[in-house]
Amino acid sequence: MARYLGSVCRLCRREGMKLFLKGDRCYTDKCAIEKRNYPPGAHGAGYRQKQSEYGIQLREKQKVKRLYGVLEKQFRRLFAEASRKKGITGENLLRLLERRLDNVVYRMGFASSRNEARQIVCHGHILLNEGKADIPSMLVKVNDIVSVREKSRKNTQIKSAMDAALRKGTTGWVEVNMDKFTGKIVAEPNREEITLPIQEQLIVELYSR
Ligand code: SF4
Repeated sequence: MARYLGSVCRLCRREGMKLFLKGDRCYTDKCAIEKRNYPPGAHGAGYRQKQSEYGIQLREKQKVKRLYGVLEKQFRRLFAEASRKKGITGENLLRLLERRLDNVVYRMGFASSRNEARQIVCHGHILLNEGKADIPSMLVKVNDIVSVREKSRKNTQIKSAMDAALRKGTTGWVEVNMDKFTGKIVAEPNREEITLPIQEQLIVELYSR
C-alpha cells in the first residue's frame, strides 16, 4: 500500500495553510506554518510566482489529496466514482473522501489526525460492524458501526485522542459513544458539515480539461 513518507509539515507549507496532519501539535506554536509560512525549499521564502488558472486548480487538487492522505491513483478512482453518481460531482467527491474508514475513525475522535487514524486502522485496532477492518480506504455507509477493538481500548494513543475529542466535539453525521468505544454513521455528510476550506469545483474543472 503506497503512501507518502516525507515530512508532512512540508505539505502544509507547500499549500500555505494548516492541513492538520500531526494531531495535537498542529494546535500549538510548534506548528511549522506558525513559524515559516512559506513554501519549502531554497527558493521558498520571498519567491512568489503568479499562478495560472491551471496552477490554481492543480494546487486545490493537491491540497485535498494531502488533507485526506490519498495518492493520485486512488484520488482519480474516487473522482471517477463521484462523476458516475447523481448530483454535483465535486460534492460527491468530498462525500466519498469523508466516508473513507480512516477519515471516519478521525471524525469519531478515535485518532488525533487522519494519518494516525490510518495507522490505527492498519494495525487492526478498529472493527467495522464487529468485523475486522484494516483497510483505510474502505468506504463506510449509513448505519455502519465503527468500534475500537476490545483489546485496544487501553491504547494510550487512542485514549488521548478520545479525551481531546470529548473537549472539541465530533461532527454531526456520526454519533459516538465514548464509554463504549463505538460510533455510528447516522447520515451521509452534508457539504455544509465539511467545513474545510475546499473549492471542489476547481478539481472538477482540472479533471475536465
Ligand atoms: Fe501542518 Fe500540523 Fe505540521 Fe502545522 S504541525 S505544519 S498544521 S502538519
